[in-house]
Amino acid sequence: MRIGQGFDVHRLVAGQPLILGGVTVPYDFGLLGHSDADVLVHAVMDALLGAIGSRDIGHHFPDTDPAYKGAQSTELLKRVMRIVNDKGFKVQNIDATIIAEKPKLAGYISEMRGNLAGIIEVDIASINIKATTTEGLGFTGSGEGIAAMAVALLKSIA
Ligand code: MG
Repeated sequence: MRIGQGFDVHRLVAGQPLILGGVTVPYDFGLLGHSDADVLVHAVMDALLGAIGSRDIGHHFPDTDPAYKGAQSTELLKRVMRIVNDKGFKVQNIDATIIAEKPKLAGYISEMRGNLAGIIEVDIASINIKATTTEGLGFTGSGEGIAAMAVALLKSIA
C-alpha cells in the first residue's frame, strides 16, 4: 500500500468557466490557470503522483509548456493514471475536499465522482468528494479562490 496527498489553489476571476472534477458548474466566476484550472483534479493528480513517489504535476506538465495551455485536466489525469499503472499500482480509494465559499456544490458532487471513477477505473464508492466552506475566513471565504485537497491510497498490482 502507498499513500499520497495533494493540495492546490486557483484564483477565481470573472469570465472563466468554473470546472471542478470535470464538471462545468454554473457560476459568475471561474478558476484562472494555465490549464482549465480544475483545482480538484489537480489535487487528485498530485495525491496519485505522491503515492508512487513521482514528484508532482508541475514536473510532469510544466505550466511553461504551451502544450498544456488550456489543457483539460481530466485528460492529464488519464496520463497520470498511465504513469500509476506503469509503476504497477492501482487505486484503492481517494478522498478529496473542495474548499469554496460559493457556489453550492452539493448538486454536482455525484457527477464529479462519476467522472473521476471512470478515468481512474474504480467503483464510484472508491472516490469520495466533500465540499466545505471556511466560514467566510481567508481567501476561500472571501471568494478570491478555491482550494482542494486529496489523499489517495494505492495498492501494488504485483
Ligand atoms: Mg493547479
